[in-house]
Amino acid sequence: MLDKNIQLAAQWIKTAQHTIVFTGAGISVESGIPPFRGEGGLWNNYNPQCVELGYFTRNPKTSWPILKEIFYDFMGKAHPNPAHIALAKLEKTGHIKWLITQNIDALHQSAGTKNISEYHGTIDTLHCRLCLKQIQATDLKWKPFPPVCFDCGGPLKPDFVFFGEMIPVKTMETSLGHAQIADLIIVIGSTGEVMPAAMLPGVVKHNGGRVIEINIEPSNYTENLSDCFLKGKASEILQRLTNAVLNE
Ligand code: NAD
Repeated sequence: MLDKNIQLAAQWIKTAQHTIVFTGAGISVESGIPPFRGEGGLWNNYNPQCVELGYFTRNPKTSWPILKEIFYDFMGKAHPNPAHIALAKLEKTGHIKWLITQNIDALHQSAGTKNISEYHGTIDTLHCRLCLKQIQATDLKWKPFPPVCFDCGGPLKPDFVFFGEMIPVKTMETSLGHAQIADLIIVIGSTGEVMPAAMLPGVVKHNGGRVIEINIEPSNYTENLSDCFLKGKASEILQRLTNAVLNE
């Protein structure tokens, strides 16, 4: 059954005009990054209030050690896995036109993907909350700690979206624009629970497009939205799917 469905999905990818991809935390699990919630989730071991905007603003000295440990010492050292690499390959061959990720780990870009919206921002950069200077995370020396702006000494905030913060308007509009013209979306490793990102596959479906889903277990999308559910690990399924699309 899986083989048949992979062939069907490959056929849709070969004939679609504007295929987009929507990824969630599941695609990075095989890079060693656990999801936030559920079994083995990061929030079982850490208090998520460190990424609430109000708490972070009032308590930088409590929040920053946790942020540094999770997002820079740990997530920042992860490498792309074969799933990220397969998607970059399909972009290069012209089969994928745009990728929208909910992830902040920047692993799609490390794998070579260029056409991307990072819906929830990135760990790669930070900005000064006073003068708005943008700083590369790789330039941080962590002294003083919490880190401050190199120019004005103002407090820094990572460029990923905190709880209580808006999604940047440009990112929302670009993502929605691609979802509105897409005739195929491949949803990978997302429960479909985090709004407003979770509504994007529904926009494609509403406009007559097809939905391929890859996940190790059914999600909010599987029953109501997915036209083809490929059950399995993202790396394994995407390598097989890519081979089928490229006849390798
Ligand atoms: P989620 O954590 O709610 O769900 C993860 C999904 O991935 C589940 O449906 C699970 O069944 C599936 N999954 C787990 N392992 C998989 C694998 N090997 N192959 C395929 N699927 C697999 O994820 P979400 O829907 O993205 O929502 C969580 C929010 O937290 C998002 O905003 C997400 O970006 C963010 N987050 C990001 C990272 C990261 O940047 N790597 C990590 C954790 C959470």
